[in-house]
Amino acid sequence: MLRSEQKPFEEIEGYLKGDKKVFILGCDGCAQSSQTGGKPQVLAMKELLEGAGKKVTGHTVIDFLCQKALVASRLRPLEAQVMEADSLLVLTCGVGVQSVGAMVPKPVHPGCNTISLGGSRGEWRGTERCLECGDCLLHYTGGICPLTACSKGLRNGACGGASDGKCEVSPEKSCGWELIYERLKEVGKLDLLKQFIPPKEWNKQRPRPEMLSTSLWALEQRNESSEEDRG
Ligand code: SF4
Ligand code: SF4
Repeated sequence: MLRSEQKPFEEIEGYLKGDKKVFILGCDGCAQSSQTGGKPQVLAMKELLEGAGKKVTGHTVIDFLCQKALVASRLRPLEAQVMEADSLLVLTCGVGVQSVGAMVPKPVHPGCNTISLGGSRGEWRGTERCLECGDCLLHYTGGICPLTACSKGLRNGACGGASDGKCEVSPEKSCGWELIYERLKEVGKLDLLKQFIPPKEWNKQRPRPEMLSTSLWALEQRNESSEEDRG
């Protein structure tokens, strides 16, 4: 399970500057249980965006946004509403936003920050991963996480060491920043590369003290130990 919290509305509004039409996506999995991306939160966000002068072309909540095939099949009947939008606002964890970004040829904006439960978790077939950094950057990177897609976790562009599109640290994998460049090009957002992403506040990636006494924390730690035992 990934835990998330909604970003401040001012930050979301900043991402949507220049976008008149937005499609909102929620997730009935972890985001629903975090109360950040279930149906009530999607409807509340619709009202906020309309109050801010945006046209919401459509909205839906999908069972698990981390499942790309499910995202594609559930969005197919809503294709006209999705394609009418300038961008998608996705209310879920970092994996869900990345999964939507991989399936829809539109800019995606994260409406939530994934907060730390002490590592990264989840077993799913996709390649998308989230380090639960507590300050999601996916708006700037075309919906590809620079902390997990780039071997060095660089946030402001490539190191220059890639060769034939492969990472200099791990030649078996594609350079994350080349993937980010291609995605931004595809959705017409290369201008985002000119924006400087300030140094990361890594303390946001530390588990919060109030989480340590929750049953969710205990459950996740138990799951992690069993995975290590299996490994
Ligand atoms: S930037 Fe990456 S690590 Fe941070 S919340 Fe987003 S997907 Fe997760
Ligand atoms: S080659 Fe690409 S993925 Fe590898 S460390 Fe450099 S920027 Fe990151």
